[in-house]
Amino acid sequence: MAVEVLVLKETAAGERRVAATPETVRKLVAAGATVRVEPGAGLGAGVTDQAYAEAGAVLAAGEARAAAEVVLCVQPPPAGALGALREGAVLVGMLHPQADEARAAALQARGIRSFPLERLPRTTRAQAMDVLSSQAGMAGYKAVLIAAQLAPRFFPMLTTAAGTIRPSRVLIVGAGVAGLQAIATARRLGAQVEGFDVRPETREQIESLGGKFLDLGVSAAGEGGYARALTDEERAEQQRRLAEHVRNIDVIVCTAAVPGRPAPKIISAAMVDGMKPGSVIVDLAAETGGNCELTVRGETIDHQGVTVAGPLNLASMGAVHASEMYARNVYNFVALFLKDGALSFDWNDELLAKTAWPEPPATPAAVDAA
Ligand code: NAD
Repeated sequence: MAVEVLVLKETAAGERRVAATPETVRKLVAAGATVRVEPGAGLGAGVTDQAYAEAGAVLAAGEARAAAEVVLCVQPPPAGALGALREGAVLVGMLHPQADEARAAALQARGIRSFPLERLPRTTRAQAMDVLSSQAGMAGYKAVLIAAQLAPRFFPMLTTAAGTIRPSRVLIVGAGVAGLQAIATARRLGAQVEGFDVRPETREQIESLGGKFLDLGVSAAGEGGYARALTDEERAEQQRRLAEHVRNIDVIVCTAAVPGRPAPKIISAAMVDGMKPGSVIVDLAAETGGNCELTVRGETIDHQGVTVAGPLNLASMGAVHASEMYARNVYNFVALFLKDGALSFDWNDELLAKTAWPEPPATPAAVDAA
């Protein structure tokens, strides 16, 4: 008997992505799944119901939620939808259960075995399943395009009959996955790009993309390739040097984050006061509080001639490619436990054990067949 897999139609406001594409539907079917797709699930990402059907999926009827053994989504389904899922179903997506008590309670009450993909350990083997990386790439790209759109100037240097135009000076704050993509994109648009990060290894990465590393004299490499929070002294030093520097910057794109914590405040209101009118700040960290003190979640404001934008869910703006990557990430993860038409969870596999929420028992049976 085939495993019943359901692809949800996203309902969060502004969400255009989808958790499976015709390509991954074919792969799921080949692995022994019956794939049902909720009508219209792919439209925001350019996939018609017909394209899913041609790939071997079945359009889901109302009762599909109660029958599905594996449910795929992008954002956490609302509590009501969780209540409609079958007890013991497997739910895979960016679920952030701890971010919402009602959601956590609903997942537990239904006995749902959830795999919040943002919990995936970021090991080499997990790279093909890493939704944080694939979605951050799109977000970094879009953030620079938004900045270019808002900026009252060219990014590239231009030599024209009306004289020479200086290239824009762009500073990317935080050089993780999103920041590096932002640097690459701003460079392609011809800007003069600088980047900085508290992880020293980013110097080489920034330079390899044609950016200049802005050295603020603070290094804060933490565990697992992530940054740690700065001490008060380190923060003061970073702030002092940065305040001087941003006076001559035209565009700042903020991407700095510390996992599990609110975004670090890096660009103070006083720093923005010191920037030239006509400068632009795009704060990709708006979702987790913003790197800039003046950022307003989801809004674009004017502060004494400086535009400060705090756009949300930038990955969804590039829903076609973001979904292509997300769906492959999801398929690669599901392939860890869906094989030959059956579900089997090897809790000795850290990718399954560490992603699962709640975590499986400390000494589980090695393999738990569903
Ligand atoms: P993230 O979104 O948590 O943070 C973005 C960046 O902000 C990071 O580079 C961080 O160092 C930086 N930052 C934090 N505090 C800062 C501050 N006060 N000032 C300036 N910068 C600050 O991180 P991410 O982009 O998801 O990933 C970070 C790194 O994790 C990657 O660049 C990589 O080295 C590692 N990683 C490894 C794998 C893997 O091996 N599978 C996959 C993805 C990422």
